[in-house]
Amino acid sequence: MKTIRLREGKERSLLRRHPWIFESAIARGGADAGETVRVESSDGKFLAWAAFSPASKIRARAWSFDEVQRIDAAFFVAACRYAIRARTRFDIQSDGQRLIHGESDGLPGLIVDRYGDTLVAQFLSAGAERWKSVLCDALLAETGLSKLYERSDASSRALEGLPEVAGWLRGEGPTDLVLGEHGWKLAINIATGHKTGFYLDQRDSRKKFADYTRRLGFQRVLNCFCYTGGFTVAALQAGAGHVTSIDSSAPALQQAAANLALNALDGARATWLDADVNASLRRFGDEGQRFDAIILDPPKFAPTVAHAERAARAYKDINRLAFKILEPGGVLFTYSCSGGISADLFHKIVASAGTDAGVDGFISERLGGAPDHPMTICFPEGEYLKGLVVMRK
Ligand code: SAH
Repeated sequence: MKTIRLREGKERSLLRRHPWIFESAIARGGADAGETVRVESSDGKFLAWAAFSPASKIRARAWSFDEVQRIDAAFFVAACRYAIRARTRFDIQSDGQRLIHGESDGLPGLIVDRYGDTLVAQFLSAGAERWKSVLCDALLAETGLSKLYERSDASSRALEGLPEVAGWLRGEGPTDLVLGEHGWKLAINIATGHKTGFYLDQRDSRKKFADYTRRLGFQRVLNCFCYTGGFTVAALQAGAGHVTSIDSSAPALQQAAANLALNALDGARATWLDADVNASLRRFGDEGQRFDAIILDPPKFAPTVAHAERAARAYKDINRLAFKILEPGGVLFTYSCSGGISADLFHKIVASAGTDAGVDGFISERLGGAPDHPMTICFPEGEYLKGLVVMRK
């Protein structure tokens, strides 16, 4: 067994059971990509078993902090079983569920979503890649399913020195699927859709928006960064008068329009704009268009803290523009899915956007990802998605 020895004082985060070991923390030692190493403090005490990743700044990711634990097939079966069973304790009203959420489920670099009878997995670290075959078998055994599609075509694979790959790893079947979420149906494509095909993390926010729509009877809704129209369907089904939806992806908008038909919703109640959100918000402002509710669910502007400053300006811009076209009494659902922007900072950004727009509002809710995208005590980075509901005065 190969060993890596840390520099003095660099054991602290591992003692808190945080799973990342940065390149700069290592004094000596190395291994092949994905190989299990014993991680020791500068004075030789056991800290963790970890997967080594020679190309990554996160040079190793811990599998276990227990010295007697063997990192073998049985370990991965047990970890998958625990994560999958934990989902039965969460409130998930959908047949689309995240079964494994990487570090938060003790399996760094592994993402697994279930869409009905099909699993879709991303192997995003050298360790997850090395154990791919064992993990596939464990996932199918624990779910009783037979089909697993790989979507390891994420750009983060390059940071681990891994090529982008996608395709069936086990079984085979259609890649066009229909998901039942809360009270609606959503068509997705696991081969061409974003991430593993869909944004499952916003499931409960879509429900929340439907609840607000029912309660407050929104007539004019604006859904910015609508992707395949999840929030649009939720709003229309809850009785919204008209929803204008914006995205810069034509295939996503096509899928979104099809999702209306799938739910027998009247297409005349929807407008789809293939456009840039920032430019559209400015245009609406200039034209004097106003909305009773606005959703801002942009892509990740700040993947890490290093991007936070520029991203903060971008978040502030769209929030300021949105506040300006929000009718008094209207409601803003605003989000950041950037790991580099904390909940506290996001709150400050939205507050300062409101101040600049000259509006005040009641912050009626703080929102996060759906519970099958858990955050854990030891891995605060798991809290990547944060949202606020602001009711304009
Ligand atoms: N709210 C969606 C998920 C949004 S993901 C849901 O519930 O499923 C972010 C979306 O923003 C993507 O669909 C992407 O195509 C779109 N996007 C990224 N930059 C954009 C821009 N500048 N203008 C409009 N859309 C953009």
